[in-house]
Amino acid sequence: MVATVFIDYDEELISTLSKVYGDDLYKFLDSLKRPPSRYYVRVNTLRTPTDELIRRLRVRGIEVYKDEYLDEAIYFPVRHNPNIPSVSNYVIADKKASESVILGSDLYIPGVLGGKFRKGSEVNILTPYGDVIAYGIAIVDSEDIKKGSKGVAVKTIKSLYEVIKVRELPEYSEGLIYPQSLPSILVSRLLNPQANEVIVDMCAAPGGKTGHLVELSKGKAVVYAFDHSLRKVEDMIKELSRLGHLSSVKVFKADSRYLHTDFPWLIADKVLIDPPCSTLGVIPKVFDVKRYKDITTLSKYQFQFISEAVRIVRKGGLITYSTCTVTLEENEENIRRAIKELGLEVVEPYIKVGTRGLVDELWGEYLLRFHPHIHGTPGYFIALLKKN
Ligand code: SAH
Repeated sequence: MVATVFIDYDEELISTLSKVYGDDLYKFLDSLKRPPSRYYVRVNTLRTPTDELIRRLRVRGIEVYKDEYLDEAIYFPVRHNPNIPSVSNYVIADKKASESVILGSDLYIPGVLGGKFRKGSEVNILTPYGDVIAYGIAIVDSEDIKKGSKGVAVKTIKSLYEVIKVRELPEYSEGLIYPQSLPSILVSRLLNPQANEVIVDMCAAPGGKTGHLVELSKGKAVVYAFDHSLRKVEDMIKELSRLGHLSSVKVFKADSRYLHTDFPWLIADKVLIDPPCSTLGVIPKVFDVKRYKDITTLSKYQFQFISEAVRIVRKGGLITYSTCTVTLEENEENIRRAIKELGLEVVEPYIKVGTRGLVDELWGEYLLRFHPHIHGTPGYFIALLKKN
């Protein structure tokens, strides 16, 4: 059986998406059910040269390639297994667990929604919509699963898509790599961090882009990482210390919409804004439910970060604004407001990957977009802005 994507978006949301995708809307929606064609990780170049890391992996027979444009980006192939063995027992996984299992992760007990199975039996793992995404062996009896229990419920043997388990590589625990999508790797690159610059990452956790800022400036930029969630700040501290970057970053738990009042001494040369978004571009999805109202609420929230960035960045300073979503409201429309209401200017991105976003006289062809059905990457938006 082939997994189908169940997109439950209301009419207004579909209508705004068709302004972006036109006749390709169906192609775009269909592409959401597949993972990216390449699984990217960023190399921690402060610890190892990229070529050395590739050599180290290849010696062990691991298939890995260097990205064509970004020196610090490498990728592993993602394989498709259309024929999952069919067995009579099954377990239903929730959305989040399904979206990991479909790429080969084991199914953990908290992600189990239902099903009847015995320890040691063969099972199919299904999405909440009944699509088979994997075959595996049950590690527990379904009857023994109690509220609050943890651990693996089903060991995945074959999944619809397969990719190397990066987090199990010794290179991962040694802090040599960080799993990150290609467009996301581009964001810190576009900010081009230099020694001694003060760079503020407003929505930093779990620290993917923050760590990259450290690496690109060879640990010499003064990087501030803010996030308002304590749990996520803790995750970020773990990630930054795994990479060996903790001493190069000043981490704060704070609501970044109020930085100029809470940190009045803060003046940034550059600001990175990677705010919460509707994540429409995140792939693979086993289904998705969204309403247009969610989008407009997020769009207003996102604009608050842009307004605040303008208050803390110096004249002539640069700002990146990025999202892993594809709506006009969260992307181009926020940039339009940033130009008209805040006087920001859109700057030409100096790296030529992705696609030029929707063209407009306000920004020409300077906005970057990535589309799953065109680039095989998550859907993504990036703008490079300047305060005049
Ligand atoms: N830049 C990160 C991903 C950020 S996801 C990376 O590349 O790894 C968006 C983050 O914004 C979340 O961690 C969320 O906790 C944070 N966030 C949401 N509202 C915020 C606020 N008002 N102030 C600071 N951080 C906020």
